[in-house]
Amino acid sequence: MKLVFATNNLNKLKEVQLLVPEDITLLSLKDIGCIEDIPETANTLEGNAQLKADYITKKYNLPCFADDTGLLVHSLNGEPGVYSARYAGEQKSSEDNMNLLLKKLKEKTNRSAYFKTVIALNINNTQTLFQGIAKGEITKTKDGLEGFGYDPIFKPEGYNKTFAELPLTTKNQISHRGKAIAQLIEHLNKALY
Ligand code: IMP
Repeated sequence: MKLVFATNNLNKLKEVQLLVPEDITLLSLKDIGCIEDIPETANTLEGNAQLKADYITKKYNLPCFADDTGLLVHSLNGEPGVYSARYAGEQKSSEDNMNLLLKKLKEKTNRSAYFKTVIALNINNTQTLFQGIAKGEITKTKDGLEGFGYDPIFKPEGYNKTFAELPLTTKNQISHRGKAIAQLIEHLNKALY
């Protein structure tokens, strides 16, 4: 069967394609000819994942899943949260976002934070949500060159290195997205066979 992953991030697509049951072919947004910006106007990660998955299922009449991720910092009441991509502005610059977060945390002693990924799956006229969490803390400096987004300033629990200093295979095993995807795969295996 064909299943849309509402993303144009080819790295994410490849990674997940290797994990899903063999007879599921993942299609990207580009594959189905969806070139418009899908609205992400909800004020929760759940809401945005649902909006994206519902948009595709309604418009293209295809089974679909969509993800949304945020970094939540305890001493900032959950900021940047659902606004993680554009925390420092619409230019969506990771450097600017990290600098703003480090500045806001300058006087704070509690630097604990977590990443959360939510996936909404629409299949057989049913919607199911999955979530994955990675706990850790925000470092004082940027370290490492791997990964993307806030990786250079996020040190996962139990490690002495940031996500950007860890090999991608290690990050995938312990990350928010890795955990949410593992649940999605388990569900697909059970639901379809
Ligand atoms: P998205 O929902 O996957 O597009 O993620 C939203 C934003 O959260 C991204 O633009 C990044 O700034 C941040 N983000 C998501 N996942 C990660 C991650 O694994 N590491 C670091 N930052 C991330």
